[in-house]
Amino acid sequence: MQAEIISNGDELTSGKILDTNSQWLSVKLTDIGVTTLYHTTVGDDLDAMIDVLRAAVERTDLIIWTGGLGPTADDLTRQAIAEGVGVPLEKNDESMRLIQEMFQRRGHEMPKANEIQAFQPRGAVPIRNPHGTAPGIDFTVQRKKPFKNGRLDFFRIMAYPGVPAEMKEMWQDSGQKSIQEMLDQLIGQKRVLRFRTIHSFGLGESQIEAMLPDIINRKHDPKVGITANQATITLRIASEAETEKECFKKIEPTATLIYQTLGDLIFGEGDDRLQEVVCRKLNTSGKTLAVIEAGTRGLLAEAIAGSKEPSDCFAGGIVLPPKQPIEPEEMIRRGRRLFNVDYLLLVGAYPAGQPDRNQTEKTFVAIVDARKTGLQESVFVLQNYPYIGHPDIIDDLYVKRAMDLLRKTIKEPASPQ
Ligand code: AMP
Ligand code: MG
Repeated sequence: MQAEIISNGDELTSGKILDTNSQWLSVKLTDIGVTTLYHTTVGDDLDAMIDVLRAAVERTDLIIWTGGLGPTADDLTRQAIAEGVGVPLEKNDESMRLIQEMFQRRGHEMPKANEIQAFQPRGAVPIRNPHGTAPGIDFTVQRKKPFKNGRLDFFRIMAYPGVPAEMKEMWQDSGQKSIQEMLDQLIGQKRVLRFRTIHSFGLGESQIEAMLPDIINRKHDPKVGITANQATITLRIASEAETEKECFKKIEPTATLIYQTLGDLIFGEGDDRLQEVVCRKLNTSGKTLAVIEAGTRGLLAEAIAGSKEPSDCFAGGIVLPPKQPIEPEEMIRRGRRLFNVDYLLLVGAYPAGQPDRNQTEKTFVAIVDARKTGLQESVFVLQNYPYIGHPDIIDDLYVKRAMDLLRKTIKEPASPQ
């Protein structure tokens, strides 16, 4: 099933507010197997609203609308849906009851102005709004001429208030379940959709894709998608089956193949970021860490301190001027003076100038065994990375390089046989 999300409000089209509802809803729709084909944003103009609604029902079967359900003159969604579909707006008893109930719970009389919110297009069903006043609109309309090519002979419009918290609550309360039930009915069986996300670091999106040509192919079953986010490359395996267990069983061979191919490039799955993985490894091996960073200006310490895994393993850090050259030996000396830890993680100073392609200078990342005394023999690894990358992601790149190097260096205790 394919959907269009319409967000409505002058505050969106004028640029005062960013449309976050569409993004949130798209993720939720994907999770239940609905593809979003269009995002449309329209101001508080009745004709324009009717136009976009009509276009939407021509090109998709499920329209999720947010905004414009309040009690004021610029809240035109009820009217736009009624006129767009060609039915009258009428007072809906169930909707009225829901609004009155809400005011009763708040302990005061319903103001006359709110009565307008009880109006619904004829044939629509109000959607309960647990903590707001405006009920939503759930309107399934039979098409006069059935569409071909896998399209449905009806369309469904679901309208929610624009306030993100209310919209989200209503989606969790009833929206998602109701769409899932509709999908189950259409297919004639119950189905669930499950994902596994596998994260890697160290190679680019196209390099990873080239290593897995057969898997990241639209025809591959289960489907595997690839996304890049600040140099973390994520593979997402999606599977649909009658039960959750079957989904994961279908995913398993593909996941195994990905692990065999990418090996040590993979650092984790699901909610794991490098800081969680690193802290978990430090915790299980009973080791402690301090960071000494120049180029990254404290961002490495911030990342590790912000780990969702307990970060008691993290003793703290030293932040040095980002562009003032400093030798690893000097950093180690300072780290040893201040911290009594197992590992020191170093990020050297950045070269002068911009991180562009002509840059020939490098910045080092090093991991040091702080328990050893000699300077040379205590360095586990020292890697020089070219100072190349978009200025917006260069810091993130070094922070991740440092954590990734540490992840690969920490030896976890052998599990008892
Ligand atoms: P409305 O339901 O149209 O009265 O919207 C109420 C408020 O919710 C607006 O003033 C915005 O602050 C917020 N809002 C509406 N639509 C969106 C959207 N698509 N994304 C984020 N916030 C929104
Ligand atoms: Mg509005």
